Amino acid sequence: MLYWLYTRLRIVLFGPPGAGKGTQAGLLIEKYGAPHISTGDILREAVAKGTEIGKEAQSYMTKGELVPDRVVIEIAKQKLAEVGKSGYILDGFPRTVPQAEALDTALAELELPLDAVVSLAVPEDELVKRLSGRRVCSGCGAPYMVGNLPEDPEKCSSCGGKIVQRADDEPESVKNRLQVYAKQTTPLLDYYRNHGVLIEIDATGSINDVFGRVVAALSK
Ligand code: AMP
Repeated sequence: MLYWLYTRLRIVLFGPPGAGKGTQAGLLIEKYGAPHISTGDILREAVAKGTEIGKEAQSYMTKGELVPDRVVIEIAKQKLAEVGKSGYILDGFPRTVPQAEALDTALAELELPLDAVVSLAVPEDELVKRLSGRRVCSGCGAPYMVGNLPEDPEKCSSCGGKIVQRADDEPESVKNRLQVYAKQTTPLLDYYRNHGVLIEIDATGSINDVFGRVVAALSK
């Protein structure tokens, strides 16, 4: 296995909402130790704290729309400048071509080029099923699925926090998020294919099967 895989994994985890980016990121962090940069998590935290960014982002997020590029680009750049030297697993960023271009510029300035963009592919009917059954701990963010909840279905087994449904996992918002993804984010597949860094993974099946495919692809 290559040295960089153990020390400085530098990847984008790419895919539609519900593809399992957060879950695979968790497993990759355990294995490779690279910092996780999720713009969705950072924005949710900003909303919860009621910061200026949170106030601006909230209405877009609830409707399942994209937060303006200017806001997320700034968030991602700041985070990369802070932690990028230890590697990075970008999750949910970039989502538009201008974001990808801004990322290229920022990574060139930091001299931390991307190793790969790992794209997780899941058919749309499966995504709808996953998103509508998804629950999350409001304390630590641990993901759960209806049908596989702890004995007390409202209490997180890791931190004891309350298990809830994300506002943007409500059916109307899910529909919108998938449409937004198809229109604004899928052009990035060609963008990264043309840059020669795209790795496409079949992300159906069990979490461990998908992880096995991701690790095998990264080792090549
Ligand atoms: P996620 O947890 O990645 O699904 O993100 C949740 C929501 O945060 C998205 O539906 C968007 O409203 C917003 N968001 C997260 N990342 C981005 C991004 N890169 N560009 C624009 N909006 C984003």
